[in-house]
Amino acid sequence: MDNLAQEVISCTKCKLCKSRTHAVPGEGNVHTDIIFVGEAPGENEDKKGIPFCGASGNFLEKMLESINMKRGEVYITNIVKCRPPGNRDPEEEEIESCKEYLERQIDFIKPKVICTLGRYSLHYFYPEFIISKVHGKIYNYKDTIKLIPLYHPAVGLYRDSMKKVLLDDFKIIKEVISQNSTTQQEKKIPSSSKQEEFDLSS
Ligand code: SF4
Repeated sequence: MDNLAQEVISCTKCKLCKSRTHAVPGEGNVHTDIIFVGEAPGENEDKKGIPFCGASGNFLEKMLESINMKRGEVYITNIVKCRPPGNRDPEEEEIESCKEYLERQIDFIKPKVICTLGRYSLHYFYPEFIISKVHGKIYNYKDTIKLIPLYHPAVGLYRDSMKKVLLDDFKIIKEVISQNSTTQQEKKIPSSSKQEEFDLSS
C-alpha cells in the first residue's frame, strides 16, 4: 500500500495533477473490514494530503463514534485522488484515469463492507442507483463485499434532518459487521427490516 501511495503522489495520468497541491491517496487501517469511499479531495484535503480532514471529516468521525468506532479502525479514500479545481465534480476521464488506484486498494484490503459517501462514489459502483432511494440499504458487490450507499457527510453539516438520516444509516454498518461475525460462526443471519439485498455484480 505504501508503494501505491507513492505512485498516487507522483501520478500525472490526468490533468488534475497540474492543479493539485497534494494528491490524497487514502488513510487508515489496511487490515480493516470497512472502506469509506468519497468522491474527491476538497480544499483542506488538498492542502494536507489527508482524506476527510475538514468539517466533513469531523462529522464522519462523529458518525463513526455513534456506532462505537474510531477513524483509525477504517480506511478512507476517494474515487479521484486529486482535487478538482474549485471543488467541481470529477469528470468521466478523471474517474477513469484514477480508478486503477481504488481497485488496487480494494484488492489489497479485501474489505467486507464498502460505504460510498455521496452520489459520485455510489455511481462508480452502481451507475443506475439513485442515492435518495438506496441510501442506508445493503447491496452485494462482487461475491464477498456488502456495499452500503451513504450520503456525503457534508449534507449533514448544516441540515439537521439530513444529519439524522446519516446517523440512522450508519447504524446499518454496525449491523452488517455483526452479521458478518455471526456468519463466521455459521449461524443464520437474522433479517433486518431495513436490509434490502440485491446482487447486481454479475
Ligand atoms: S486524479 Fe488520479 S489519475 Fe489524476 S493525477 Fe491524480 S492520482 Fe493521477
